[in-house]
This record gives sequence, structure tokens and C-alpha cells, in this order.
Amino acid sequence: MKKTLHDSTIFSPGNPDYTSKRKNRSRYLLLKDNPKNILVFGIKYLITADENDDVVVKEDVSILINNGRIEEIAPVNKKSKVDLNKIDLIYDASKRGGLVVTPGFVNAHDHPPMYILRSAMALSEEEGTIEEALMSAIKLERKMTEEDFLYSTVAAFSEEQKMGITTTLSHYHTPHATFNAAVKCHHRLIDAVSIASSTDPHANPKTAEEYISSFGKKSFPSSQMIRPGLCLHYVYRADKETLAAAKKLIEKYNIILTMHLGESEMDIQKTINKFGKRPVAVLDDAGLLNKNLVLSHAVHLTIEEIKLLTKKKVGIVHLPTSNLIHKSGRLAYNYFYEYGLHERTALGTDSVMSKNRLDLLTEALQARVLHQDSKVVFYKDLFKMITSNGARIMGLGKVGKVLPGYRADLAFWKLRDRGFIPFDENDPETLIGNMITFGGRNIRDLMINGEFVISNRVHNFVLESDLLDKIQELHTNLRKRAK
Ligand SMILES: [Zn+2]
Repeated sequence: MKKTLHDSTIFSPGNPDYTSKRKNRSRYLLLKDNPKNILVFGIKYLITADENDDVVVKEDVSILINNGRIEEIAPVNKKSKVDLNKIDLIYDASKRGGLVVTPGFVNAHDHPPMYILRSAMALSEEEGTIEEALMSAIKLERKMTEEDFLYSTVAAFSEEQKMGITTTLSHYHTPHATFNAAVKCHHRLIDAVSIASSTDPHANPKTAEEYISSFGKKSFPSSQMIRPGLCLHYVYRADKETLAAAKKLIEKYNIILTMHLGESEMDIQKTINKFGKRPVAVLDDAGLLNKNLVLSHAVHLTIEEIKLLTKKKVGIVHLPTSNLIHKSGRLAYNYFYEYGLHERTALGTDSVMSKNRLDLLTEALQARVLHQDSKVVFYKDLFKMITSNGARIMGLGKVGKVLPGYRADLAFWKLRDRGFIPFDENDPETLIGNMITFGGRNIRDLMINGEFVISNRVHNFVLESDLLDKIQELHTNLRKRAK
């Protein structure tokens, strides 16, 4: 890899080329540049949670989008009131076997800046134990530069987008890099910045507030696509003052706090050693158990804790692959289901240190298999765990469903695909099980906030081959520095 790569080759200025990339295969008819009024015509199957949070499959519908928002969803055969003169772009979803449209997926837990550490988390036994592999990866992580963090995050977001993810909750301590990467990728982001980290000694509530309060100011132009939040590595990393400061920030800015909790017996024990109590009790004492709290892993909980978290409307992120790889144990889904906490449970990828591809369909399959002998996780519940539940626990408002008034975050999947076919045409809900049990696949087109980010399987804002060359170059340099 000799040539040095610059932004100009990795990032495309936009202006999606709707016609020439795959001649005669395009579904786009561009009528006006910079389209805001978009008609997605003739969707064969639309899968979404509805107003009552029931997952439904609608047949033969069109979607009208105006300025990033879904304005209308109408049956194809119904005479539409749509004034075609006002449409800027028509996307024909009816051609060549048709398409399945879902909400863009919501990834409720990731550490995107760690992307270039992918090969550092060796899973083979020759490389030693998982703990040894983790330690050597942390050595690399400590040598990472601002440039490494930025391109890592661009690589993570653009990979997630290929897998149908449109929103990510990032848990890390590099707000400039994560913010800028989301801007470059046109990705929806909850940027949770650290108040106490294992790798960044400067992370504290004060530095976090500097970032949060700068939203809307010059250094961080505000964007409704990116919202700030707080994160904490584990409860034992904080002290009472830090937790009290977090509570103030949550109330002042109406943001969420996310943290790892009950990933293993180790973090429970360390919290007991420091506070004399289990982490859920420590958070309860600090007044932090409410809908602004999102706990990832949540494997080692007592039944009383599960009941309390349900009552307090705390959000949970289930990370089955990460828990398997790190031998953390298994989340008690049977009790989650019994008490209703499953309705506030979403799925996440965790970083490439814990899962080798940043996608949620394989994660849903993993969850299905992991729990099948104690409590089957229904396909419709899995579907909500990767769409509406994630949006709910992050407090995203009108995101995570395809309904009028919601943000236009849409994933377009080819129906004539082995991951859907064959299905029961008399019972199109069989598409949901097919989609999940087949596992991950690449998106055909992806819309975020009413804008096509991927068209005809090509990213409109990131030039993937040059980005991968850059990531390889950065990774090689990082290994040299860490030697
Ligand atoms: Zn994590």
C-alpha cells in the first residue's frame, strides 16, 4: 500500500449518480437535483412495527417523503392525491421482482472508533486466551491517533449502513472523531461521550459537558442527525460525585446515559468492593434508574433487579455474540419476557473486538439460537429489538418505524433474494422469520433522513475501496508504533 490517501479520494462530494453506476438497472428517476420530495413507488412488502407496536407486513404500498419525513403511505392501487409535478425523485420499487422495505436498523451499542483493531482480537487458541488478546488490543488502542479514530468510525458507520443500520449509539471518548465521521457518512448518531473511561484519563463530567454544551456552536454545528449523550465504562469506574454530576447533566440537557453493567461477575464484584452494593443499587441510590438510562449486557442480574429495571423503564442492550465470545454468560431473557423488560430491550453489535461484522440480522439470529431452550425469542420481537425498541430506549422520538410523521430512515432489500425466497405468499409474515434466520446480507439502497446514502449498492458519500486502503495503511502504521 504505497500511495498516501487523502480525504479527496475517500469522500465523495455527494450528488448521487442515480443512473450510470449500473446502467439500465437503476430504479431512480431524478426529476430535480437535490431531491426533497421523493416517491417510493410500488413496494411489494413493507415490514414495520405499527402505532400499537405490533409488527405488520403491508403489501403493495407507496411512500411519499417530504424533507426527510414520511408524509404518506398509500396502497398502490388507490388513486393518489399526490401531485406528480411536485415530486423531485421517483424510486421504482416494483421492478424486477420487487422489494422489501424495513425501517433502517438501530444499533444500540457499538464502539465505532475501535474499527481498526479488528484483527487484534484474535479468536484462535494459538494466540492465547481472550484476556491476553484483549490486553494486546488495548496496547494498540492506547497508541491510536485522532486520524485513526476518525477513519475507524467512518469505516464502522459505512459498514453498518451496508447492513441496513441507519442509527448507532456510540459509546466512546472521542467526540470530535465520532461527530465528524457521522457527518461524513450522513449517519444518525447518539454520541455518548465518556464521563469515566478505562483508556482516557481526561474523560470526566466536565469534559463531557464541554462537548454537549458546544452543540449548536461553531466548533460543533448542530445537526438533528447527531445528538449527544453520556457513557460510563462500568459503575466501578465512577465515584458518587461523578454519578451525581451525570444526573445533573442528564436533567439539564435531557440526554441519555449508557454504560456496561453486569457483563460478568467481575464488574459486579468490583462495584461491591468500591460501593458496598451491587451496581443496580448504586444507580438507584444516585437517582439514575429511569428512561434516560441504557444498560448494555445486563447478563448478571437478579430477578429483583430485573423487576426494578422494568418498573423504572430502564433500557437494555442485549449483545449475544459479544457475551458468547467473551464467555460472559447468558442474559435471562425468560425473566425479561415474564416481567416485560423485553419491550425495552434492543440489540447491539458491540465493537469489532466482540463481533466480526457490524450487522444486526446475524445478531438477531444469535439471540434466537441462544435462548431457544429457555424462552424462544419470537421473530417479531427480534424485529422490534433491531428497530423500534432501540429508537425507544435512546429517546429518538419518531425513528425506528415506517409510519407517517416518522423520519424517513428506510432500508431497501431485494425480494428476489435467497434470504427471503421461498416464503408463504398467503402469510407474508413468514418473510420476517426468513430474513432473520438467513442472517446478514447487504442492502440494495439505504435512505437516512430522506436522503439516499446508498444507491444501487454503492455508497454515495464514501468511496469504499479507497477507504479500505486507508484503513489498512493506518492499521499497519499503528502496529509499527505499538511495537
Ligand atoms: Zn461495549
